[in-house]
Amino acid sequence: MLPRMQNLLANAPEANESAPIRHLIVVLGDQLDPASQAFEEFDAARDVIWMAEVRAESTHVWSHKARTALFFTAMRHFASAQRALGRRVDYWELPRSMAAGFEDLVSALTAGIHTYQPQRVVWVKPGDYRVETELKAALKRLSVPLIERADTHFLVDLEDFFDWAKGRREFRLEHFYRLFRKKLDVLMEAGEPVGGQWNFDAENRKSFGRKGPGVLPTPKRFAPDEITQAAIADVERYFPEHPGSTASFAWPVTPEQANAALDDFIQNRLAQYGVHQDAMWSDAPWLHHALISSALNLKLLHPMRVVRAAEAAFHQGLAPIAAVEGFIRQVLGWREFVRGLYWWRMPKYLSDNALNATLPLPDFFWTGKTDMRCMAQVLGQTLEHGYAHHIQRLMVTGNFALLLGVQPQQVHAWYLAVYVDAVEWVEMPNTLGMSQFADGGVIASKPYCASGKYIERMSNYCQGCRYQPELSTGASACPFTTLYWDFLERHADRFAKHPRSALQWRSRERLSSEQRAAIKAQAERLRLEFCGLKG
Ligand code: FAD
Ligand code: SF4
Repeated sequence: MLPRMQNLLANAPEANESAPIRHLIVVLGDQLDPASQAFEEFDAARDVIWMAEVRAESTHVWSHKARTALFFTAMRHFASAQRALGRRVDYWELPRSMAAGFEDLVSALTAGIHTYQPQRVVWVKPGDYRVETELKAALKRLSVPLIERADTHFLVDLEDFFDWAKGRREFRLEHFYRLFRKKLDVLMEAGEPVGGQWNFDAENRKSFGRKGPGVLPTPKRFAPDEITQAAIADVERYFPEHPGSTASFAWPVTPEQANAALDDFIQNRLAQYGVHQDAMWSDAPWLHHALISSALNLKLLHPMRVVRAAEAAFHQGLAPIAAVEGFIRQVLGWREFVRGLYWWRMPKYLSDNALNATLPLPDFFWTGKTDMRCMAQVLGQTLEHGYAHHIQRLMVTGNFALLLGVQPQQVHAWYLAVYVDAVEWVEMPNTLGMSQFADGGVIASKPYCASGKYIERMSNYCQGCRYQPELSTGASACPFTTLYWDFLERHADRFAKHPRSALQWRSRERLSSEQRAAIKAQAERLRLEFCGLKG
């Protein structure tokens, strides 16, 4: 017998070993929904739930320690809850899966199939194209029939998204959002949007002003229990060189905690959410954000529960319509929209590079060591907590990579690695599409690019920075501002005549030819300094 198979049998599950297995129910790390369709017609006498932690899922991108720890502990809590229901669970914790020689999900599942010889594998459609493709190919090789069930942990079925998308030249959130708000009857009154308008952006997205955010509510955090501590210990042992820290780990890891996190947001932060949605402030990572993305993405929390809780808060007078609409737009709008686009465009999405950006990602993205204060702040909290809010991701780190000209696939690998909420279906459209314009305008009608002046307006990061946001050349010039003008120049052919971007591009006409030449030379020097290469 092969040594690996011996090891596997030594670890085989305790109960009902000899009974023939009907369904091997595969539950992946981001499918931790106790009401999952995978358990439809579950038969405790004949079915086995199978779950595995494997090394490759933390190394195919260089995963932040807190991200890996969150997956492990949430999966372990889920397995334990399933066992408590009397269900048979074959769970491979990382030390055991490594001892058995399982490098990746394919090798682990292949061994599971050999052990159980199930009549069928049952799962919910995986959320990640790579995982789905690799596992389906393995099942085909092994000639095991598969029953794939729909993921009902979303608000919009993929088929409905595809029907909406068919034949469209442009995909705009606003069209999608209005249609599904009507269909799902969210914030609607007699067929009209509550508050008389669909979009309250004009009232949202203000900065904190000079006085700053004042006393901020402390969000509910969850001290690691024994299971979480063990998961963290495994991460520290097996991935010691990985980026990020687990020292402040306090994310929700069960459905109960996820619901408590949502309730805390609705009660204490939602009212202020909209107005300061885009604002940033030094050493204040959470502000008025919900901090529920990881719970949603691991399927600990259902998006409809989130949407209805926010809607109820409006009706109870807990939060104004602008805040509630702004929040619901993110969950019912953006989140569902990017998921549909991911499946609509994969696998092509992965290789998109509409702006032909080729530079390597600067090393300081992994260390936070840079004298750009805004970047140091956002990278610092990212490494500490595995969290940054949307505008920090889009207009600080994402904006910087875009302006510099970093190859979008490297930017994508970084975003997928460093956030606790990072799963590809939501991360990739946000990174390649919204942030890097690599899809050529599928998600965004023009690039989200801005100079240091935007960051100065929306934060206090520039105070105390060695650079000055209004300067584009010279020793104190803000790198964002230099690279911004250089970006406009480099991509003028594409955007200067486009109706949606022409106004922004026209602003460079006020620069003299000497200024343009000096900016170009300074941008070249920055590319050398940050990437060690010329653009
Ligand atoms: P809030 O600001 O309080 O928003 C509430 C919820 O709305 C979030 O929990 C999230 O589920 C949803 N949401 C908000 N914005 C978006 C969006 N643009 N797309 C999809 N859902 C949204 N989100 C992820 O969940 N995973 C990712 O890997 C991810 N990668 C991103 C990469 C880039 C480059 C950018 C620009 C954004 C990314 N986002 C990602 C979207 C967004 O930044 C996060 O969802 C949000 O910051 C999570 O924090 P929160 O729960 O406090 O969100
Ligand atoms: Fe960032 Fe430029 Fe402001 Fe410094 S001056 S914090 S680099 S935007």
